[in-house]
Amino acid sequence: MTLRHVRALECTLCGATYDPTEVVYTCPEHDGVAGILDVVYDYDEIVDRFDAPLDGRIDSQWKYRAFLPVADDADPVTLGEGGTDLLEAPRLSAALGVETLVKNDGTNPTGCFKDRATSVAATKARELGRKVVTCASTGNAAASLAGYAARAGLDARIFVPGDAPEGKLVQPLVYGADVLAVEGSYDEAYDLSLEVTDEYGWYNRNAAINPFQIEGKRTVGHELAEQTREAVPDWIVFSMGDGCTIAGCWKGFAEFHELGFVEDTPKMLGVQATGASAIHDAFHADDADELAETVADSIEVGRPRNTLKACRALEESGGTAVTVSDGEILAAETLLGRLEGIYAEPAGAAPIAGIRTARERGIVGPDETVVAVVTGTGLKDTASAREATDGVTRIEPALAEVSSRYDVGETAVADGGEDTFPRTDGPEAGTR
Ligand SMILES: *Cc1c(COP(=O)(O)O)cnc(C)c1O
Ligand SMILES: [Zn+2]
Repeated sequence: MTLRHVRALECTLCGATYDPTEVVYTCPEHDGVAGILDVVYDYDEIVDRFDAPLDGRIDSQWKYRAFLPVADDADPVTLGEGGTDLLEAPRLSAALGVETLVKNDGTNPTGCFKDRATSVAATKARELGRKVVTCASTGNAAASLAGYAARAGLDARIFVPGDAPEGKLVQPLVYGADVLAVEGSYDEAYDLSLEVTDEYGWYNRNAAINPFQIEGKRTVGHELAEQTREAVPDWIVFSMGDGCTIAGCWKGFAEFHELGFVEDTPKMLGVQATGASAIHDAFHADDADELAETVADSIEVGRPRNTLKACRALEESGGTAVTVSDGEILAAETLLGRLEGIYAEPAGAAPIAGIRTARERGIVGPDETVVAVVTGTGLKDTASAREATDGVTRIEPALAEVSSRYDVGETAVADGGEDTFPRTDGPEAGTR
């Protein structure tokens, strides 16, 4: 196995380095899993191998294979992840009062951004000869890992909090995984998955502690750099749970900037729920609260495992973090659906609520441009979305039922005038 383009795994706390061909999760010099490792590359080697044209045509994230930490002879485990659309969103932009584009990562193979990382993890597991893969997940990583394990012929044994949305529990079952629903929080499921990794030696995909995970997430940064080469946005907005996703995107975008592929870098805006705001609090040096209670289950994280990398991404990019209430998140979900035809899960819609908050507070200016990354589809969690809608209209199968509601000859084209974004809509109106 050769990894000529990977120099080392480097501890983010003490700078100690480790051999990238060994299975090392975190630096043993620190308590628990605090010593998160970062993959350090030899960019001369990478540039030697990277010859794809940056023409905006991206079939999958494996266009950037030269940047991914897999062996030269590795056979990628792929379902065609990445290469997602960057959509103009004129009606949403009008409602938010700032030009907004949407990177629609809910169209990934299992419905979520995490496929980018999982594809690399499954490829690594196979490269390392591992037969069993595991992770702890709020739901999406589990479904994603299960799908890619099936694709690779590996066994997946995954830990999820018992109250994860039904769709996210069923999806990995269909992919043939063992789904162990832990009677406890995501944080407890996470700790258990670490114990199991020690005890059984299963390959662990947890994004914060597996140093290769974030590396797959970089490809969204590569793609955004390629897709916005002519006009780099002022801001890229992500929701944050453990913080790996926003950190991965920043690393990818910054690499392309360092290499001269793109002239500018965006500021990163991280969005958390008021009920699960630990990274936001750490960034603003407030007292971090371990409470995790939000409708956005994918970011319902009390003890984020990658606060350091996330905060570094916010700081290095000149960005910041904001919080939004559950009511604002659900209002953003229906707004995005109603105005642009994009159905996001709550964590995927949270960036829209974050943009509105950042506009109101003057963090984002009216003449700036913003990219909101929608990280997951809404189809896995219809129950929370239903709360934010008026529900269906039940009628008898008779024309009279329709004519009592609509005039013949009426042309129903939205005039855009009612595209409001009520701040106190839905349950638990915002406080911050
Ligand atoms: C996991 C997830 C996030 C948060 O990513 P982190 O790396 O935990 O910060 C956001 N949105 C969706 C849909 C997710 O599945
Ligand atoms: Zn260390």
